[in-house]
Amino acid sequence: MCRHLAYLGPPVTLRELLFDPPHSLLRQSWAPRDMRGGGTINADGFGVGWYPGGDTPVRYRRAQPIWSDPTIAELAAATSAGAVLAAVRSATVGMAVVEAAAAPFAEGRWLFSHNGVVRGWPDSMVPLAAALPVRDLLTLDAATDSALLWALVRDRLRAGAAPAEAITATVSAVVAAAPGSRLNLLLTDGQTVVASAVGHALSVRATPASVLVASEPHDDEPGWREVPEGQLVEATVTEVRQRALTW
Ligand code: GLN
Repeated sequence: MCRHLAYLGPPVTLRELLFDPPHSLLRQSWAPRDMRGGGTINADGFGVGWYPGGDTPVRYRRAQPIWSDPTIAELAAATSAGAVLAAVRSATVGMAVVEAAAAPFAEGRWLFSHNGVVRGWPDSMVPLAAALPVRDLLTLDAATDSALLWALVRDRLRAGAAPAEAITATVSAVVAAAPGSRLNLLLTDGQTVVASAVGHALSVRATPASVLVASEPHDDEPGWREVPEGQLVEATVTEVRQRALTW
């Protein structure tokens, strides 16, 4: 199962976030500590999205292991940002290994990632998918559960839902339609991060000026807090709120 992270705070290089920590996302791609849903390594692609200034993020994604791409190492050393979302992917069996299936998914100011699996895919999602505009289904980023989850979240954002509301409503609809699904969703607009802990590990570290939400703590420094199962985290640089998801 994939690993992901989101950061808000003073600008840091992507290298400081993705490569330098002792248990960085790079290391989690080949030696994750807490792969609850099966899978052993996260080698089926990776992606990073950041806000170079302004509201619109830039993405770099590839369908290969993060350790095998020399370009991301160079880019990460030369790029700084104060808001970042990144993921390494372990494709669920049967799902396409293509760049378009690697998080972050994006539209406008939004970046999104999913760590987990939708049970009974794709049949369990027919009722929820049927409520989406046909155009969204025909233009789904990839034939994966994560891409459909993004379409469901995006549909609510487009309708004006607040980010926490879009994530909460999507989690409860998917849990109802596909019980047992693992739904660690992660969404940011560069100002706020919303993350659900449903079926997978999630941790948060807040300092007075920054917040990091990550599948796994990337170092042994103090301040990491594990998010209990069934909770939703809503964070800005100055505040981290947590509440139970209900369904
Ligand atoms: N099921 C999703 C995929 O295959 C998410 C992967 C994950 O968490 N491993 O893309």
